[in-house]
Amino acid sequence: LSITDSLTQLYNRRHFEELLSQYIEEARKVNKPLSLAICDIDFFKFYNDSNGHLAGDKVLKEIANLLKRGVKGSDIVARFGGEEFVIVFPDTIKENAIKVCEALRRTVKEYKFPHEENQPNGDLTISIGVASFPEDAKSSTELIRKADLSLYMAKESGRDRVVTA
Ligand code: GH3
Ligand code: MG
Ligand code: MG
Repeated sequence: LSITDSLTQLYNRRHFEELLSQYIEEARKVNKPLSLAICDIDFFKFYNDSNGHLAGDKVLKEIANLLKRGVKGSDIVARFGGEEFVIVFPDTIKENAIKVCEALRRTVKEYKFPHEENQPNGDLTISIGVASFPEDAKSSTELIRKADLSLYMAKESGRDRVVTA
């Protein structure tokens, strides 16, 4: 079975879920923290509708690269779904994960994507939800749920921001 996503070359969702469970088990065993981020492209349907699906695919690849380049080698970046990415930060408290995510958000905001000026907010941006083990969740399922809830809050409060549980 494949563990990578063919468009972005990142780990796919199934492999991410497998790894997250293992990392949480390990973190519990050695009493270490772990943080999880879910990143979602803002107004991506609009971008596809305006510029075509192929242009959208290019954005997905570019954002995958920006995220990968913006984290440490020990962090795991994966494609969670269509236009959603997840990052596992092993041995990382929430405060430090937020700092990295804030830098990633800025990097994407400052990157020049073709035709991004036509986006509803005049820019191609991402929103990020962050949650941490063990303070926000005791299991991988709960951690994903908490990070997703934070992402929802990031969208609700205006997008292009990092929100935490
Ligand atoms: P929001 O800011 O609330 O996240 O709005 P959104 O438009 O980004 O969210 P929505 O869930 O409405 O749309 C997601 C879009 O992502 C729709 C879908 O066509 C696009 N998408 C998902 N997977 C792919 C892909 O593999 N390639 C391309 N080009 N587009 C994709
Ligand atoms: Mg989405
Ligand atoms: Mg989106």
